[in-house]
Formats: sequence, C-alpha cells, structure tokens
Amino acid sequence: MGKKIINDPDKVVPELLEGFIGAYSRFYEKHPDVNGIIFKHRKKNKVSLVIGGGSGHEPLFPGFVGKGLADAAACGNIFTSPDPNTIYQIARTVDEGKGILFVYGCYTGDNMNFDVGEEFLNDDGIATARVRVQDDIVSAPIERKDERRGIAGDIFVIKVAGAACESGLSLREVVRVTEKARDNVKSVGIATASAQLPGDSKPLFELGEDEIEYGMGLHGERGVIRTSMQPADILVDRMYNQLMSEFDLKAGDEVCVLVNGLGATSVMELAIVFRRLKQLLDSEGICIHDSDLNSYCTSQGMGGFSISLFKLDEELKRYYDMPCYCPFYSKGQWSETGITEVPEEKNIPGTALEEKRREGTYVPQKRTGILNKLDVSYTKDMFIYIADKVIGRKSYLTEIDRAMGDGDHGIGMAGGMQKVKAKLERMADTGNVYEVFEVAGKAMLLSMGGASGVLFGEIYLAGTRGMKPKKELSSEDLAVMMRKSLEAIQKRGKAQPGDKTMVDALAPAVEALEANKNKSLLVMLTAAEEAARQGMENTKNYMAKFGRARFLMSRVIGHQDAGATSVWLIFQGMREFVEGI
Ligand code: ADP
Ligand code: MG
Repeated sequence: MGKKIINDPDKVVPELLEGFIGAYSRFYEKHPDVNGIIFKHRKKNKVSLVIGGGSGHEPLFPGFVGKGLADAAACGNIFTSPDPNTIYQIARTVDEGKGILFVYGCYTGDNMNFDVGEEFLNDDGIATARVRVQDDIVSAPIERKDERRGIAGDIFVIKVAGAACESGLSLREVVRVTEKARDNVKSVGIATASAQLPGDSKPLFELGEDEIEYGMGLHGERGVIRTSMQPADILVDRMYNQLMSEFDLKAGDEVCVLVNGLGATSVMELAIVFRRLKQLLDSEGICIHDSDLNSYCTSQGMGGFSISLFKLDEELKRYYDMPCYCPFYSKGQWSETGITEVPEEKNIPGTALEEKRREGTYVPQKRTGILNKLDVSYTKDMFIYIADKVIGRKSYLTEIDRAMGDGDHGIGMAGGMQKVKAKLERMADTGNVYEVFEVAGKAMLLSMGGASGVLFGEIYLAGTRGMKPKKELSSEDLAVMMRKSLEAIQKRGKAQPGDKTMVDALAPAVEALEANKNKSLLVMLTAAEEAARQGMENTKNYMAKFGRARFLMSRVIGHQDAGATSVWLIFQGMREFVEGI
C-alpha cells in the first residue's frame, strides 16, 4: 500500500476535507451533503467564483478558496473530476444572483461534469460561464491548443478571476478578464518520479534511475517524451526555450513566474530552477513582476516541477496586484478586518440526505433458465448483477487504466456501480421498466465524476428519454434504446470509432443489437457481447484522441482502452444474466 499516511483508501477525500476544514475552520465550512468547501467570509452581491477538480493536488483546489480568490471548491475523488451534483450543490450555495464563473483545468472528465452541472444551474435560472485553463503547452501542439490541459497555471487564472469578481464586474466582464489571463499563462513541466495513488501498491509508472518524463501531466500520466536526467540548468534552458517559442515576449515586458513542485520536490531544487530562469529572463530584458517557489499544485508523491509564465498587461497586473488571502496563498495587504470574525453559521440548502434513509434490504429474485423479456424486476436484478460484476473487476479495470490514463477507472466504475445498487435496492415499485434504466443511469451520472461518470451514466439513461412507459422490453426495444445512448455519448464526448474510447466497444455492440433485433434476447446479447469484445481488442491498435491517454501519442499502441473494457463487461453481464445465473 505504499507508505502514505492514510486510513481507509476509500475515505481519503472525506477525511482530507474534514482535516482541512477543521484546521482552517476560521475560513471554511463544509457543504453538508457533497465534497467541497465554502468560504465563510464571502463578499455579497458579486459574481461567484467556483473552482474544482479531482482531489489529490492539494493545496489546489480547496486551498485557493479565500478572500479575493474562489468562493468555493467542488472536490472530486482522487484525480477524478467532481460529479455534476457536487458542482451544482456547491455553486448553488454560493450563488449571489450575479452569476457563477467556473474555473478549472481542461480535462475531458472535468469539462463534461462541469457542463452538466451548469445545465442543472441554468435550469434553476442561474447564469453560468466557464474558463478552462489550458496552460500546458507540451500537451498538444499550438494548432490544437483547445485540447491542452491545465496544470499549475491554474493559480494565476484563479487569482485574476477572484480579483475580477471581488471588484464587482459583471459576469461577462469577469469572463473577458479571466479568458485573457488564461491566454497569457503558459507552462511546461517534467517528472522525475512517478506518483502513487492512495491505496495502490504500485506507482503509476516506472522511471529508470536516469530517466525523466518531459511534459508530464498532473495525474501521474506519463510525460509526452521520456528522456534522460540532466543538470538543472540544462533542463530549465530546454523548458524556457519551449515556452519562449510560443510567447511573444520582448525586452520591457512583465511576467509573473511560478516554479511549482509536484509534491516530492524540495524548495532547494525549486530555487535552483528559479535561479537559472531568472538569468534567462534577465538576459532578454524581461521583467519579473512577481515570483513564487511553491508546491501549489501537486500530484501525490510525484517528483519534478513545472515552470509557468504569466504575461501581464496593465489590466491583468491590476487584478494580479489586488490583495487576496487564504491559508495557502496571499498577495498584498488585506485591509478589511472582516476576515477574523466568524459569521453566523449559514444554513446551507442541500439535498434531503435521502442516501441515509435506507429501508430494509433488497433481495434479488432467484432465477434459472433463459429470459425472453426484461420486465421491471428482472431489469433491476440484471443491473445489480452487472454492478457486482464490475465492482469485482475494480482492480482489473484500474490496472488497464494505469497503463495509459490515471489509473482510476476501476475506482470510478466501482463507485458508480455501488450507487446503482444502493438506488435500485431502494427504488419504489414502478410499472415502467424505463424508470429502472433511468434510476441506474442517474446514479452513475450524478455520483461518479470523471469522464466516465457522464458517459457511462448515459449508457443506461440516454435511451430512456422520451420513451412511453412500458412494462417489459423486447429485443427490439433494447436495440432502439442503446442506439439512442450511443448517439448521446458521441454527442457529449465527441468521440468517433477509432479514437480509442468506450465508443469503440459500444458502437459495434449497438450494430450487433440492431442486426439481431428480431432474434431472442440471448442471441442478440451474445452477438453484442462478442462485438463489444472485438471492439475492445481493436482499441489496442488505436491512438487516443480523448481522455488523458491522448497526451501519450503513440505510446498507447498495444494497450487496450479502459472504458471499452467496461462496456464489454456490461454487455457480458447482460448476456450472462439473460442466459441464467
Ligand atoms: P478519466 O479519464 O476522467 O480518468 P476514467 O478513467 O474513469 O475517467 O475513464 C476513462 C475512459 O473514459 C476512457 O478509457 C475512455 O473509454 C472514456 N472516455 C474518455 N473520454 C471520452 C470521450 N470524449 N468520449 C467517449 N469516451 C471517453
Ligand atoms: Mg482515468
């Protein structure tokens, strides 16, 4: 299990938040129902700034909630985006009627979950906007800069966004200033040692004695190039040249500099990096307006650092120089006294904590023989069967994701499937089988986070939209539903077959369902399972265009996609259940 100072690996996030909020209770309170933290001394009558992302990068994100910074942070599981319900609940709590700005790093999972969170808020009449940070210039070439991910440059964007909100600008103006800040931050990083997730026995990747990963991500993804270790000055020269190739900086320009440690890098090393960086900037006459050596945006025990440069203009400088304060980050002098007084506990609106109201235990029906129709109770049992199956394959899925992603797919899927079970076991009687799909899909969508939360939730959920209630489903009904689900997943995630995602297993499975829709459920599902398996196998030959794996380019060839593997398991589960267990 490594030597992480933790208790139960499954409780790392709630325990981390309990400790964090407990230590700084002068500033923070916890949302009663979801994982996130809320600033107690929020200024009234302004655009609210909500940040968030996966946990495990502390002090980012919770440590950047404060005066002149964010009003709240929505916190996901380790390295996994928060789910849409968390995002929605946190944002509602800090809403002042002036709109919500979300700032987060650009990752498929975060993008999709925050988008759904925004849709929920918009349904309540709350105006929203988002700025996705994309400072990592190594993660995609400039022609595809929309695909770049966010790393430590988040800090500058949050700083400026917080100041713009505090100044009372309108949502539109806050977005304009924050986007300008986002466009003026660029970063490059390297990793000298891999990260290890809490509870895992192995690091996410192995590095030789003299090897480094150039262009590493924040989630223990491997870097884009593996290269050899060099003295600090040579590393910094290379990183600087790459930054300068994209920045049009000239003598007299002003920048802020952040040398960010990834978790296991000493201030000594960060200072040695900064020394060289300063020599380079000085030699070109570029002025350093402000600089920071700190581990703000970490990645568990990852070794290495990133360099972020933030190019200022008059307006950005004004917002950057405005005071801000929180326990982990402060600038300027905060003159308001309000910071020390603890206001009355606010009654945070939340869900009815229905989770806790568990009545009795649901016992799945015993059954043998082949099923020809899926009625309400068999569908329920089938999903519970699939849930148990996926939960049982948690480490297998995680192992597959570790090869190219961030090693959390099994954790995410197993967590989502636990929720599916809990919801179905407590579901009220219904005469509509689509409702069972809906409850199962929503359980995943609202709880999992990550890219897969939204996408896998849709496998069950999307096909039910607009369907007239039915007591039981035939082969044809299932084929119709799954086609709708595939379309929704492709609409949301933009993946095509061949992009090395779950779509590579789902698309052929749906085709097989359609080709066999006049046959029995068992024949049809057997064909779909085989098509999904073949599709999953084929992902080994593809390069990734989505998710964290895309940053690895050709290094992913030979590895199968984790999401496609889950799709195959789901179809296998359906077939097994229908065949008789
Ligand atoms: P995360 O990428 O947030 O860590 P998971 O590890 O749980 O989420 O899930 C990763 C899987 O999600 C990938 O293996 C892939 O199949 C699927 N995926 C990621 N992005 C997309 C997308 N845009 N469209 C379809 N599937 C996607
Ligand atoms: Mg993952």
